[in-house]
Amino acid sequence: MVNKNRQVQNTIPPSPHPYKLSNLRTLYRLTRACAICPRECGALRLSGKTGFCGVGRLPEVSSHNLHFGEEPPISGTRGSGTIFFTHCNLRCVFCQNYPISHLGHGETVTVKKLANMMLSLQSRGAHNINLVTPTPHTAQIAHAIVIARGEGLNIPIVYNTSGYERVETLRLLEGLVDIYMPDIKFATRETGRVYAQAPDYFEVARKAVREMHRQVGTLTIDRHGIAFRGLLIRHLILPGHLNETKTILHFIAEEFPPNTYISLMSQYFPAYRSHEFPNLSRYLSKPEYEKAKGYLKMFHLETGWLQEMK
Ligand code: SF4
Repeated sequence: MVNKNRQVQNTIPPSPHPYKLSNLRTLYRLTRACAICPRECGALRLSGKTGFCGVGRLPEVSSHNLHFGEEPPISGTRGSGTIFFTHCNLRCVFCQNYPISHLGHGETVTVKKLANMMLSLQSRGAHNINLVTPTPHTAQIAHAIVIARGEGLNIPIVYNTSGYERVETLRLLEGLVDIYMPDIKFATRETGRVYAQAPDYFEVARKAVREMHRQVGTLTIDRHGIAFRGLLIRHLILPGHLNETKTILHFIAEEFPPNTYISLMSQYFPAYRSHEFPNLSRYLSKPEYEKAKGYLKMFHLETGWLQEMK
């Protein structure tokens, strides 16, 4: 399952959709009584209040560094310039990054400082700026990218998200984000409700991924093997939920071109509140892994990566 249908480009063309500054104003307007994500809490974020996600007026960052553990066209040889944002709008009970996403480990930064982080990652050789859990911070991130682009930032922007996104918000990122990397997590209302208080998760994520694909198309990779635009869909296989893996892969096969990149991840480990849920209290089993592999075959999904089981 490795890059069979890879599209190869020799040069990195500019985005076909120049970013409209009026979109940035709309993003801030959406943050005022917050409707940035599907929760639409209405929290007065610009006055410093917080909603479900816990983010207030300014962005909060847990770390920014070169990361070599992403998929090959994202990490490349020099690393992905990864900025981990604090808090999350999904807040899964099995969160693998819960100290950052649930407990809020990180620091508040100004938009200017965030722009400087992007520039500093670029000067350290990063192939891209990889925004991890960006959703609640979307307006401030867009603002920082506009500043950084004005000061010479010229590497792709990767939007690395749980998939719980409003299409209205995503539309305001058109021309700013080059690579969308959503993780489609659940496929039933019950799982979304129990694990993330989001019964509408799958319905929302499907619309979001369609919008991402509309904006950037299939993942495109340059002659050095580095991605510069497009969609890369991830899915973390959850133990005891193989039927949902099947539904998600079926959705991808039905809706997107055959050369759509998929990263199927088997790295699940019980974390945070996983022990409260029988299915989540264990690692993935070998037969489950083989079943997931079989679904890739069944739906003729041949482009991307299947993580080896440890
Ligand atoms: S981004 Fe946060 S505050 Fe805004 S709607 Fe979503 S969860 Fe609520």
